[in-house]
Amino acid sequence: MDKPNPSPRPETIAAAHGVAGDTAFGAVAPPLYLSSTYEFAGFEAPRAYDYGRAGNPTRDLLASALAKLEGGAGAVVTSSGMAALDLIVSQLPAGARVVAPHDCYGGSMRLLKAREALGQVSPRFVDQRDDAAVAAALAEAPALLLIETPSNPLLRVVDIASLAARAKAAGAMVAVDNTFLSPALQRPIALGADYVVHSTTKYLNGHSDVIGGAVIAADAGGLERIAHWANVVGCGGSPFDAWLTLRGLRTLFARMRGQQSNAMAIAEMLSRHPAVAAVHYPGLPGHPDHALAARQQSGFGAMLSFELAGGVEAAKRLIGALGVFTFAESLGGVESLIVHPATMTHADMGDEARALAGIGPGLLRVSVGLEAEEDLLGDLEAALAAC
Ligand SMILES: *Cc1c(COP(=O)(O)O)cnc(C)c1O
Repeated sequence: MDKPNPSPRPETIAAAHGVAGDTAFGAVAPPLYLSSTYEFAGFEAPRAYDYGRAGNPTRDLLASALAKLEGGAGAVVTSSGMAALDLIVSQLPAGARVVAPHDCYGGSMRLLKAREALGQVSPRFVDQRDDAAVAAALAEAPALLLIETPSNPLLRVVDIASLAARAKAAGAMVAVDNTFLSPALQRPIALGADYVVHSTTKYLNGHSDVIGGAVIAADAGGLERIAHWANVVGCGGSPFDAWLTLRGLRTLFARMRGQQSNAMAIAEMLSRHPAVAAVHYPGLPGHPDHALAARQQSGFGAMLSFELAGGVEAAKRLIGALGVFTFAESLGGVESLIVHPATMTHADMGDEARALAGIGPGLLRVSVGLEAEEDLLGDLEAALAAC
């Protein structure tokens, strides 16, 4: 670009960061650099890159796009969302206390418990909407507060700014898992987060063909720590995955707009349907966290869940009758997916913890895609008639 725009808007960053930056041939689409190593310019004269574990131009281009979108100092692109969270957790001092949501992503809970079993961290899982529980956990001088909002699969929302301020007053770092909304709809660093964690597998890539992750650091000190550690442990994402993810990122805002508009239409239809006992979507005025979501987010997202009045048998019949929705785990792609959390994503939790978390046998979670709204509504309505 001949005349750089000093402060492009987020939509412009997503669509055009790094476009036409190729100095060799003027390629408009950023090139994919697969090389694992780089020729030195001369004796004791490394170039910008020397070895692919430490740095790669394609991966760094994705990292800088994500950092700009989240409003951070920089980012590290990792091989999965779990590797991104572990980049922060595995650097904590031995025995460090970590406060995490009681309803956090199952893989995050497994990671924290696995490191706990090795004596490396000491996690406390608390309901972060419970002020007294948060106060008690923060009184134990945690090193890290992990926030995840909206939650999975019930789409509960917590107040990032308030939790971050309380954590900082207690001396803890704050990391926010922003996977469910992406920076198109929520920017945790502006609300006080030190780190934003992503599974880029979901909305950022958006096409269900990459497993990847990223950590965005709010400031230069945090960036230095995660970039150093990513090189130490070698958890960086592959250049090809970064290239695909950057390609997916180009349409993030357009996808989000279309997907959340479909989600709102589905939530409204479900909330009027007699076979449906409850709908969990923060965009509905009746959702308990609707006002907070409206203030904290710039959109309600494209994830929702609903409880069938007919329980697990109705859930089985509905899934068997669907044609447009695919019965599969994961989320954030352009295609609509449906899961039965009790037997799939949240099966490991155990009956008791699931009941406590409000994940019933008739609960289904939907990741709403970009198909025609009429096709999605028609498919669901026909399947609901079979329940
Ligand atoms: C999928 C997911 C992760 C884990 O990401 P992977 O890319 O599967 O490792 C973490 N947090 C949330 C909220 C997720 O949805």
